[in-house]
Amino acid sequence: MKTPTSTQSEKQLLVPLPLRFDNKFVRELPGDQQADNYRRQVTGACYSRVQPTQVSDPKLVAYSRETAALLDLSQEACATPSFTEVFAGNRLLPGMEPFAMCYGGHQFGNWAGQLGDGRAINLGEVINDQGERWIIQLKGAGPTPYSRGADGLAVLRSSIREFLCSEAMHHLGVPTSRALSVICSGELVERDMFYDGHPQDEPGAIVCRVAPSFLRFGNYEILSLRGETTLLKQLVDYTIRTDFPHLGEPSTAVYLEWFREICRSTAAMIVHWMRVGFVHGVMNTDNMSILGLTIDYGPYGWLEGYDANWTPNTTDSQGRRYSFGNQPHIGQWNLLQLANAIYPLANQAEPFKEALAMYNELFFKEWNQMMAAKLGFSTFIAKTDEPIITELLDILQLVETDMTIFFRQLASIPTSGDHTGPPETLLPFRDAWYQPEAITEDYQRRIDNWLDTYITRLHQDNLPDEERRTRMNRVNPKYVLRNYLAQLAIDKAENGDFSMVDELLDLVRRPYDEQPEREHFFCKRPEWARNRAGCSMLSCSS
Ligand code: AMP
Ligand code: MG
Repeated sequence: MKTPTSTQSEKQLLVPLPLRFDNKFVRELPGDQQADNYRRQVTGACYSRVQPTQVSDPKLVAYSRETAALLDLSQEACATPSFTEVFAGNRLLPGMEPFAMCYGGHQFGNWAGQLGDGRAINLGEVINDQGERWIIQLKGAGPTPYSRGADGLAVLRSSIREFLCSEAMHHLGVPTSRALSVICSGELVERDMFYDGHPQDEPGAIVCRVAPSFLRFGNYEILSLRGETTLLKQLVDYTIRTDFPHLGEPSTAVYLEWFREICRSTAAMIVHWMRVGFVHGVMNTDNMSILGLTIDYGPYGWLEGYDANWTPNTTDSQGRRYSFGNQPHIGQWNLLQLANAIYPLANQAEPFKEALAMYNELFFKEWNQMMAAKLGFSTFIAKTDEPIITELLDILQLVETDMTIFFRQLASIPTSGDHTGPPETLLPFRDAWYQPEAITEDYQRRIDNWLDTYITRLHQDNLPDEERRTRMNRVNPKYVLRNYLAQLAIDKAENGDFSMVDELLDLVRRPYDEQPEREHFFCKRPEWARNRAGCSMLSCSS
């Protein structure tokens, strides 16, 4: 076999990646006048043009074929050296016009001023064969004017977490930004993981994220809080025309309808999070997508034991502002900040108040329906179902019970025959308990009572067990990206073995299907992972 000559590999490097760009954002909106890349306040502009930093030795860790398909990129194209070079930020394709966006945000409840894309660089807007617009963005591609005191880089562990979780969420049916690739930069990046004076060198990496828009609540807030109302109107009009064309030409009525639509999509997104047990971890307004997509995967986590107060983010362990159960409320708080930001365009408070109240009503309506679906009811009936849901969540919270296993197993309990007590009816609980020894007689009685009421309620629906199981298995995933699983893949990848990243990507492709050969991924978190960094404790240091 011949080894490739240098001309052959040159040619390979030049394999074209057939991407068609239409960079509407930079074409239609004002950019920063200053061209140099240094940290600064950027006013009167929505973005700054900036080049990705070159990296020394890029290596492809993994790519998502489904996200590549959105861009009409074949698997062959993704396997070329060109792909790695381009999505590591080393080479621009014709038509790319890289830029970083200016935005602000409320962080942990306080206005934080200008934040912006401190380590994200948008390469351009791809128009695919279907005419869809997809923004491609590198995260960890070097400093921008918005990097403040930080380095603009990202480490491998957080990049793998973002890559896998974006794709896992998509396959679960949760609105999310997508991830095309994760690439090692070949460079070391210093991080003090828990901000406790123990910095370490870690492998650097770059993720390529993809979404129809990366606009955040914070893009509008910064303009409004700076009093740049003309530019605010320009950005809002741009957003409506580009991403909400069905609302019609911008007008006061359309601004209000736009806001109501953002309330609806935010509510829908958070209902999905609550369904699958996802905790975002940093719901600052700069991390809230205008399209109601899950964005900015940082110290997120998946509920193992059901616990409404759980937060994976150690930075939030005191206030628990972003805990699982507080997410719906924070969604509304963030929408209020957005309402304040766009108020100058409508100059009426009442419609915004009504929209925020509608968010609440809508959220609970959809949440009830979602919980009814998780329990296998054909519809939500307030009188019977509300107490069943409340009592169940109390029970699950009382003794550590794995949320994913519990709901998945619940689908298999029989509703016919003698259903009083064990063994089959108790299965969902038994398999999901982390500490079976903590079960008291009292607790056991509560479960028995709950099961009695639950099964009686199922009889009311009169669905055959098999049909109910099929329906439940469509909303209760079997496989989620358990925190410790991602960490195992990271441990291996840090030692140069990327195989588990691909394996997990494949696992999360079909989260609702039985995958008998992968049954070992359907199990409770092992004890070693209970307090291990990266598994249950994460920070914003990434
Ligand atoms: P996050 O909480 O990760 O959404 O980040 C909040 C802000 O900090 C955003 O403006 C980020 O771009 C910025 N940021 C986070 N990490 C870095 C970094 N390593 N270098 C530059 N900016 C960063
Ligand atoms: Mg962010």
